[in-house]
Amino acid sequence: MIPYKHEPFTDFSIEENRNAYLEGLKTVEGYLGQDYPLIIGGERVTTEDKIVSFNPADKEEIVGRVSKSNKELAEKAMQEADAAFKTWKKVKPEVRADVLFRAAAIIRRRKHEFSALLTKEAGKPWNEADADTAEAIDFLEYYGRQMLRLKDGMPMESRPGEYNRYDYIPLGVGVVISPWNFAFAIMAGTTVAAMVTGNTVLLKPASTTPVVAYKFIEVLEEAGMPKGVVNYIPGPGSEVGDYLVDHPNTRFISFTGSKEVGLRIAERSSKVNEGQIWMKRLIAEMGGKNTMVVDNNADLELAAQSIVKSAFGFSGQKCSAGSRAVIVEDVYDEVLERVVELTNELTIGNTVEQSNFMGPVIDGNSYKKIMDYIEIGKNEGRLVAGGDGDDSTGFFVNPTVFADLDPQARIMQEEIFGPVVGLMKAKDFKEAIDIANNTEYGLTGGVVTNNREHLEYAREEFHVGNLYFNRGCTGAIVGYQSFGGFNMSGTDSKAGGPDYLVLHMQAQTTSEMY
Ligand code: GLU
Repeated sequence: MIPYKHEPFTDFSIEENRNAYLEGLKTVEGYLGQDYPLIIGGERVTTEDKIVSFNPADKEEIVGRVSKSNKELAEKAMQEADAAFKTWKKVKPEVRADVLFRAAAIIRRRKHEFSALLTKEAGKPWNEADADTAEAIDFLEYYGRQMLRLKDGMPMESRPGEYNRYDYIPLGVGVVISPWNFAFAIMAGTTVAAMVTGNTVLLKPASTTPVVAYKFIEVLEEAGMPKGVVNYIPGPGSEVGDYLVDHPNTRFISFTGSKEVGLRIAERSSKVNEGQIWMKRLIAEMGGKNTMVVDNNADLELAAQSIVKSAFGFSGQKCSAGSRAVIVEDVYDEVLERVVELTNELTIGNTVEQSNFMGPVIDGNSYKKIMDYIEIGKNEGRLVAGGDGDDSTGFFVNPTVFADLDPQARIMQEEIFGPVVGLMKAKDFKEAIDIANNTEYGLTGGVVTNNREHLEYAREEFHVGNLYFNRGCTGAIVGYQSFGGFNMSGTDSKAGGPDYLVLHMQAQTTSEMY
């Protein structure tokens, strides 16, 4: 087996690669507006009621109409998943892993088509879409290999005449509720982590990006996934999500999304319902309010570039996004000025054009929420860039920078999930780290400094799951920077890390006397 190595990003300065992407766009344009059924036990189920997936850069462009599940269909899917579990759990781990490796190969061959679909369905710029697809491939390759490592369990001691084993066995049926912001990578990663470990899955993808999830299930089928192992049931959280979270047969839930929804799932899933014989397990990846800290002894150009990239990549719609920057006062004005300059250079528009750095935000609700926060920001700080938007054809919010904020300002505490960054001063490095730690979250953080002692200080004191030095705070790579946060950012389940799969299994001790 070739050792794991992450999928390289595409260099779009090369004409051949640009053309390949345009080909991908053409392929996607060829199937825009189609209808997609649910997939339950391998059967296609079409409903009258549809979720309409549209391009957030162009509201008129329908990406697809997807059947919408309800409680009855969710129940049917649960029964199929339950039945499939009885056989899938006995399929050899090597065979389960092979489905992932083959799926990775299929996606690699259709890479630009998938990325172009993300451009259309999620409004991703080319490089962000390419990274999302690469990450989906990485999850398949990495988790497949991790399963091969775990298949024989862990070594245990045995005494003479005794044989002890420690084996990981699957849990049961898992409900996977995936987000729209990494509509491919996180959807695929959470699904295959659950399935390669021998569980069966009820996948409820985000209602804004269901088409890419459908295409992914087709790939799994082509790669040899048996019927019923992953069931595709998009639908409303309040109906389908709640029903499955409450269901006594649900063994675990893997959720990625907002803190509010995550906490609601945590509460509901802790209640034991009629017929339930276990405590449900919850894997939750929630929000962040992440800080870039800039020291006085730092490369200030790197600092400004890192702030801008972390704040505005994919319009700030990453839970890892750097939505605050705390800058030591001696260099504050200089960094602020450069951040404003760089922000004003950013291009924004429909991301079918490669030249646009930023596209739209995901939908009208998101647009409204971000614009409301911008109004709040205008009262709390000094607007130095952006501050406006345009939702006439798509949902475009200009990259926005506020300066001179108070650490307790709402826009410095609450997750906005849009292209808004707040800057503030600290009197020294220590105070900057204190401010960085002052939210309820603990996902990512960045420190830009050339002071070795300060790096060590940050390593000890900056309490986040993903801490980055002299770089931005987004863009974790599977198998290189495992991703997950502390406190209200989730259960610190480290996606793309060496112990992630174990969260989807339980260990069994067997002890035999000879
Ligand atoms: N893993 C992504 C990153 O490091 C963020 C994932 C998310 O936004 O949910 O940027």
